[in-house]
Amino acid sequence: MDFKDLCNWFDKLEQTTKRLEMISILHELLDILSIEEIPPAVYLSTGELGPKYDVMVLGFQEKSVMKILSNLTMVPLDVIDKKFKEVGDLGDIVFSIGDKGSQTGLMDFLGETEPKSKQSILDVWKQLEKISKIEGENSEVKKFNSALVLLKDMEPIERKYLVRTLVGKVRLGAKESTWLDATSKKTGIEIDLLDLAAAIRSNIGLVIQTAIRKGKEGIERLHIPKVGIPIMPMLPHRGESSEDIWNRMEGKCEIEIKYDGFRIQVHKSGNKIYLWSRNEESYNEYFPELVKELPKTIKANDVILDGEVVAFNQQTGEMMPFQKLTNRRRIYGVKEIAAEIKVKIFVFDILFKDGKSIFKLPLVERRKFLRDTFSDSELMGISISWSCETPEDIDQQLLEAKEQNREGIMVKSLLSPYEPGKRSFYWLKYKADYEKSLSDTFDLVIVGGWKGRGKRAGVYGTLLMAAYDPDSETYMTFCKLGAGLTEEDMKTLTSEMEELKVPEKPKDVISNLDPDIWVKPKIILEVSGAEISKSPVHTVPSSEGGTLSLRFPRYTGNRRFEKSVPDDVTTVAEINEMAKIMRIGK
Ligand code: ATP
Repeated sequence: MDFKDLCNWFDKLEQTTKRLEMISILHELLDILSIEEIPPAVYLSTGELGPKYDVMVLGFQEKSVMKILSNLTMVPLDVIDKKFKEVGDLGDIVFSIGDKGSQTGLMDFLGETEPKSKQSILDVWKQLEKISKIEGENSEVKKFNSALVLLKDMEPIERKYLVRTLVGKVRLGAKESTWLDATSKKTGIEIDLLDLAAAIRSNIGLVIQTAIRKGKEGIERLHIPKVGIPIMPMLPHRGESSEDIWNRMEGKCEIEIKYDGFRIQVHKSGNKIYLWSRNEESYNEYFPELVKELPKTIKANDVILDGEVVAFNQQTGEMMPFQKLTNRRRIYGVKEIAAEIKVKIFVFDILFKDGKSIFKLPLVERRKFLRDTFSDSELMGISISWSCETPEDIDQQLLEAKEQNREGIMVKSLLSPYEPGKRSFYWLKYKADYEKSLSDTFDLVIVGGWKGRGKRAGVYGTLLMAAYDPDSETYMTFCKLGAGLTEEDMKTLTSEMEELKVPEKPKDVISNLDPDIWVKPKIILEVSGAEISKSPVHTVPSSEGGTLSLRFPRYTGNRRFEKSVPDDVTTVAEINEMAKIMRIGK
């Protein structure tokens, strides 16, 4: 298919915000894409260029794309810049300029005389791959020229979407889940099977391609984990009380420490180690000592383990504050910091071992595999767990966690499988603070901000924070945040927010307020608060009617780099759960 035809389909998608309509459009599109075109078409539509663990990074800033457009269209840079400040979308701008730049003047400039033939989806994808691989000396200039050549023979509609791709703002609303629904509709394969394949292989392009080419059998083969490819982690729900937890688990559960570090998945294949974050980002660079030493401690050739990495004092056996690990994540000077902060992984699960997929086995069985796979060493140990015979055991362990300044416990059903990519009721987190008041925190996303005065002049001193509602796929405002932000936080956030700026309220943000700047929801901050109360100002709906807001919100200083939008943003349902727990606690 020509790239131009794909862009016409994208235009159709852009015309609608209705999910069902989007599914039908994608279904029709799947009917005409060739097998090879499926992954690039999917990735170009979502704007994520490839699976997260191996995503294509093009490396263009908005400013340099503006320069490319100015060269391409002969429209002066300052005119494009001004227009951008009004419209906020370079794709729309290049589209409105029309097909200037396909003419001789530019061809001469590029040393081309013959116009090129039409470009297919695969041609464009290959060119983008080439651009992403340009490195080293003069790479910026080389990237600039390659993008210019790519755009030059394109028609306005193709330029619109290619430019949006270059700046990473495709904005079609065609999410992974919408694609999977369309695939299920086309192939008749149950959505749960597709979701599982997507969670295990973390590669939506591959999953859709396999579903179309090989049907249900092919999808079932993707349910076997592949060492080296990250699996989307299983996550817990909140437990409301020991009784509630006990009942949900039907009395067959174990209690584990809730470690306060980073989720980490360890893959070992021969002597090679792959470390993956919760977000499917490689941690290999951050933890070189683990990459080096772990092959010696793990007694299996191929294995996939799941756990939490914490800052750890070998001498005292104490776990250090979470903040220590956050510091370490700043890539600069990792080696020096590695020498200073020791870490240890506490492994709580095993999903695959020596050719055998074991994530579907009940937890009791998986724990046995775990014990056979390695023994405690300086860098890695098995997570501490206690048996749980009565609801009182849960309260007792919570009490001990509190005494040891831990944030809480995890209770897990012994009979449950591991559920990749799901927040599951088989795992419940129970925190020391749940029973008394609201000291639990929220992971909220910045959607806007107000410029401050005095010390906060020139920076966004007040941020508009939102929770997520997966049902409507919208962000709903929950509080205005100013407390807890240091001057440095405000400076850093301001420059990042300028990058994420959009000209008007994004369609998927629900707000009654009108901040000085609207931004694409991307940055997650951990926020604490005193209480959840009814308030007409914000838009998080209360299950009892009306809307909710967070009183006395405060930034905890924890920027949740390891979490992703929207999956890890606190949901409207979770806020309602917490509001309910508070009412019970009173
Ligand atoms: P919090 O509730 O403190 O905000 P969180 O935001 O990380 O924690 P979730 O998004 O519910 O909460 O994720 C739970 C996380 O708890 C897991 O991703 C994992 O990193 C961590 N964790 C710590 N100890 C365990 C354990 N024993 N089993 C499973 N997960 C654990």
